[in-house]
Amino acid sequence: MNTEEMAAFCKKKGFVYPNSEIYGGMAGFFDYGPLGAELKNNIKAQWWNAHVHQRADIVGIDGAIITSPKTWVASGHASSFTDAIIECAKNHKTRADHLIEDKLKMDTAGLPLKQIDVIIRNNKLKCDKCNSPFKESTGFNLMFKTTVGPEGTAESYLRPETAQLIFADFKNVIDTTRVKLPFGIAQTGKAFRNEISPRDFLFRCREFEQMEIEYFTHPNHANTCPYLHEVETYEFIVLSAEMQEKKLMPKKMTAKEALDKKIMRTQWHAYWLAYEHKWLTSLGISPENLRLRQHLDEEKSHYALDTWDIEYRFPMGWKELQGMANRTDFDLQQHIKHSGKDLSYYDEETKTKVVPHVVVEPSQGVERLFLALMFEAYEYDKERDNVVLKLHPKLAPYKAAVFPLVSNKPELVKKAKEVHTELAEEINCFYDEKGSIGRRYSRQDEIGTPACITIDFQSLDDGTVTIRERDTTHQARVKTDELHREISRIMKNDRSLFTKKKH
Ligand code: ATP
Repeated sequence: MNTEEMAAFCKKKGFVYPNSEIYGGMAGFFDYGPLGAELKNNIKAQWWNAHVHQRADIVGIDGAIITSPKTWVASGHASSFTDAIIECAKNHKTRADHLIEDKLKMDTAGLPLKQIDVIIRNNKLKCDKCNSPFKESTGFNLMFKTTVGPEGTAESYLRPETAQLIFADFKNVIDTTRVKLPFGIAQTGKAFRNEISPRDFLFRCREFEQMEIEYFTHPNHANTCPYLHEVETYEFIVLSAEMQEKKLMPKKMTAKEALDKKIMRTQWHAYWLAYEHKWLTSLGISPENLRLRQHLDEEKSHYALDTWDIEYRFPMGWKELQGMANRTDFDLQQHIKHSGKDLSYYDEETKTKVVPHVVVEPSQGVERLFLALMFEAYEYDKERDNVVLKLHPKLAPYKAAVFPLVSNKPELVKKAKEVHTELAEEINCFYDEKGSIGRRYSRQDEIGTPACITIDFQSLDDGTVTIRERDTTHQARVKTDELHREISRIMKNDRSLFTKKKH
């Protein structure tokens, strides 16, 4: 299934709609329908759980979308958050790196504008829309400008990333919590980029959400990770900068091997890449569809010591799902310089003030993960002649659906509604009495509901109901007062209830 087909499926089922469709649409903006809103919230909740609630060393914040423009001067976004744009003689604009990648299969990351122009000229690239030649390329700042206050003179920007709010709030966090190095500050929320050519459905949008962590350590401990032993034997597919330069194939290795062979430079990078990889696979992403790719020198931001992307095998190729840079103390130093404030941390052990290093910044877009999860989950089941969306139960929009076997028996309807009301106190649960039972199962399979509960005549006699499992269609009978426990097991992907019984 390609991206257009996925976009059509997402629209048809109420996951994602093109934004302002009734007015002709707005490229790069999307609205989430009833099922998409649930899935997106579940992704964010799972992320927060795994990165904040389950970790004693990470705290979360929720910063503002509009913030002092000085933030973006200090971070460098105001001057250099640009992409190369080219305009043809008839004023059609396009992103230079995308044009060159599409036409010549060349990566121009990090190349100066002049070199981009030479490539376009030498290869006689013309405008796709009107076949005119291009003028010289220019830098286009991706931040959306806005004004604050009634005079309309105070300019600011919609944040292009959530990360800078973490640095701007660093002092408040260390002054008001009891965090001790090494520790992380996490944040999720909207980010806005005026992408020159939004494309590939949710992959590149102009409004999206990020889930980011800045992980700080003492500068002297920027390579010693106390948690490394937890992941040393964990395996992943690696494509280092050297392997790319030598045109070698990606290789499966353990985190320990990547460190021993000096492919990964710090223990922190190996640890966090493994942690994130493990988290993604725990959500149902197959390890074969993930690889860790190191940035080439020319691709890396000037301040980054080392950067790795976790890439996913999308239908349009291997693409960045999550970025992970070692940003050193660059950002804190920039904010110290521009704000004139002391953003250092007092180290009680050495009784000295230090500016901590960000050894990793795991930065993940919700939309890209949403898309990857949908591709992983989508399956056309020939036997059922129906789509089965095999989302991990903890991500599924509805955790269960409740049906009376038939809708013309008031006692079955009454009992089914009672079961639904009780379950809905704890989980998102759907009630349906329309159509044949088979049709009702199919509708839930298509939207990823892991369990369908049917109330039949036996239910009235002995208080049991059937649960039917989405992926196997196996069924089991349980007592209604055991339903909560069984659904919680299913949420953990424990299908033992169904292993013995076939429908
Ligand atoms: P790309 O090179 O694909 O433009 P990037 O390197 O600029 O991405 P980062 O600045 O590292 O991206 O942002 C961190 C994460 O935010 C990315 O890994 C991605 O998941 C997400 N992200 C960035 N830009 C977009 C976008 N335009 N639409 C959707 N998600 C995005």
